Amino acid sequence: MLKVTDLQSSYKGLVAIQGISLEVGQGEIVAVVGSNGAGKSTLLKSIAGWVKPDRGGVSFKGTDLLKLPAHQISRTGVALVPEGRRLFPKLSVRDNLMLGGYTKAKGAEREAPLEFIFSLFPRLSERLDQQAETLSGGEQQMLAIGRALMGQPSLLMLDEPSQGIMPKLVDELLVAVQRIRDRGTTVLLVEQRVAECLDVADRAYVLQTGRVALSGTSSEVAADDGVRRAYLGI
Ligand code: ATP
Repeated sequence: MLKVTDLQSSYKGLVAIQGISLEVGQGEIVAVVGSNGAGKSTLLKSIAGWVKPDRGGVSFKGTDLLKLPAHQISRTGVALVPEGRRLFPKLSVRDNLMLGGYTKAKGAEREAPLEFIFSLFPRLSERLDQQAETLSGGEQQMLAIGRALMGQPSLLMLDEPSQGIMPKLVDELLVAVQRIRDRGTTVLLVEQRVAECLDVADRAYVLQTGRVALSGTSSEVAADDGVRRAYLGI
């Protein structure tokens, strides 16, 4: 479904990712883990068109994404929930959700994902009129994911959804990620909580200073000595 080939992106000449190749198959949850600054966010932003790569390829369902600007990439069915969530802070939960569906036709089709989103995150349905900035960190993350789902993406990319969220909610979020996949949306998940993330992912890539240091099934990656020492505290 998604094929990234030899991708390099840099900021003002400083290379952030170099020679990254990875694949995500339809219906998978694929994790990307790695220490701070390894290039995880840059990778997702490069796929979504928020950062323009220097070289390499990104193909999504056969479409060359590097030829498209970000707003057209999202129309191909690729959604990114960035770190820090980027909600509209002054707008209500309802309006944030509706803006997520803006590329869809008005009316029933646009509102179709709401039922599933509210079943994932019942809390959102109880807070439709609340301003986004007054939500708790966990609720804001739910809203950011809900907003992305309003666009009915076929690939959902999540950048550190657990950031700033209490441990109990992290498990809830990861269960939601599995339900999103089970309903047909493929997931590319960047996470700092490596153990929890490997529990829900099918496969994983470990990034180190902008390169893929290791990849495999989640159990293979979780069994790797280096990963156990660096990320799993074993
Ligand atoms: P973290 O887990 O801390 O978010 P990350 O693995 O997501 O890290 P990136 O945010 O992709 O890593 O950063 C990769 C490298 O690119 C880092 O050295 C970072 O300082 C640099 N970088 C990221 N964004 C920018 C930017 N807007 N301008 C300049 N350098 C940047």
